[in-house]
Amino acid sequence: MRIAIQGCGHGDLNAIYAKLAQLCKETGLPDALIVCGDFQAIRNGSDLATMACPPRYRQMGDFCEYYTGRRVAPLLTLFIGGNHEASSHLAELYHGGWVAPNIYFLGYANVVRLGELRIGAISGLYHKRDYERGYWESPPYTESAIRSIYHMRAFDVRRLSLLREPLNWFISHEWPLGIYDYGDRARLLRIKPHFRTDIGPGGEGIGAAPLRTLLEQLRPRKWYAAHMHVEFKANVPHRDGHVTEFHALDKCLPHRQHLSIVEVPTAASASASSASADANSPPHQLMYDREWLAIVRAMNPLMSFRSTPQPTLSVDAACLAEHRKFIDMHVSDTELVIPRRHERPAHLPGRHTTWSQTADFCRLLQMKNHWDVGGSDEEPHK
Ligand code: 5GP
Ligand code: MN
Repeated sequence: MRIAIQGCGHGDLNAIYAKLAQLCKETGLPDALIVCGDFQAIRNGSDLATMACPPRYRQMGDFCEYYTGRRVAPLLTLFIGGNHEASSHLAELYHGGWVAPNIYFLGYANVVRLGELRIGAISGLYHKRDYERGYWESPPYTESAIRSIYHMRAFDVRRLSLLREPLNWFISHEWPLGIYDYGDRARLLRIKPHFRTDIGPGGEGIGAAPLRTLLEQLRPRKWYAAHMHVEFKANVPHRDGHVTEFHALDKCLPHRQHLSIVEVPTAASASASSASADANSPPHQLMYDREWLAIVRAMNPLMSFRSTPQPTLSVDAACLAEHRKFIDMHVSDTELVIPRRHERPAHLPGRHTTWSQTADFCRLLQMKNHWDVGGSDEEPHK
């Protein structure tokens, strides 16, 4: 299995796919592409209005062509959110979902499986002011909501910190705080001299503190990030001798390292018959992860939609074990395959829409759908 990783997307899907095709002329396209945020899944003018960005960057970008079906993503494409997004669109798909054929938003936080890879992910940027707040933003967004909605919440970091089974990869938009201490910092400062103020003595540092904590807790083999518009590699050793390879990628511009193609050893490709076995085997399916589903279900009732900061509630091991038992009893292996959808719900500007994929996901887990705008829940938050 081969996976391509792209740094920021910035609406340049056509150029990213073209570059990938060029890089893979000999081998054929990889099994999947992962875009590490600033994807800009803008469907229309009202989505564009919910994207935080300077006016000169306020452009529709390429996504719309994939959304309307004029173009089709040539390979399975997964992405997380960054700080320039169609925030109204992504907020409706908190748990993740298909935004176009073959293009899957991983949601605010997630763990999915692809082939033998177990991949964790979180969207957004860290900002202390918004970290402890609930998911209070609701359309029509105020100027302040447009800027806070992409800030990561302690609730999502807490959910990821409950993972105990090993992860292979982790995807974030921002870098974990202080990661430059584990790589060629001098080279980084040569390419980005203005980082010196932040990285140097007395500086605030670059990157997100909660991501650094997650990196140390989860110890994935590889961690991919973007946002800083520069390629950077680091090796973070853990106390048990195990190392996390960090790789930040650039945005899609000529002569920049924005794509990395990674060969993932699988049982099939490790065996003697290599290329032809791969060509004949069905494509890898994107799957839910049982441990993550149990965490999602256990934490769902604790979600806050208030704007006031409050301590993030959590669940204990016994509670998690109960929810895991539920998932193992009620979710079959077949239901772990994330159903392919091409859904274009009627979009009312200034309102959130109910997506049937979110409704189905909540039904599968037998938990409350906080995004059910039309339902009869006593306490709809939108
Ligand atoms: P974006 O595309 O998300 O607007 O911004 C990315 C740009 O902002 C990159 O060029 C990156 O180098 C810069 N940037 C982001 N965070 C920081 C930071 O904390 N310090 C400095 N000096 N630059 C930053
Ligand atoms: Mn960014």
